[in-house]
Amino acid sequence: MDELSFKKDASFDKCPNCNSVGKLRRSRAKSPIEQGIKKLGIFNYYRCRECDWRGRLLNFGFGGISIKTILLYLFLMFVTAVIVKFIVQKFAM
Ligand SMILES: [Zn+2]
Repeated sequence: MDELSFKKDASFDKCPNCNSVGKLRRSRAKSPIEQGIKKLGIFNYYRCRECDWRGRLLNFGFGGISIKTILLYLFLMFVTAVIVKFIVQKFAM
């Protein structure tokens, strides 16, 4: 079943603890704080079937993609918002 879901989650990535590939499974949020973090969509909780490690990982993947990429996304979102605002103002005149 895991092999069929090529969604953007870390299930196919390496375990940060034991470096096993493809052993991570999504884990349910266990507290309201974890649920809140999950709802933000940035992190998801995973458990390793190999070493029983559990923790949160970035939805965008980890290791390869960094905070820099997230900041770039935020910057692009900001630029888009400014352009949209500019266009809207132009047409509103
Ligand atoms: Zn592991």
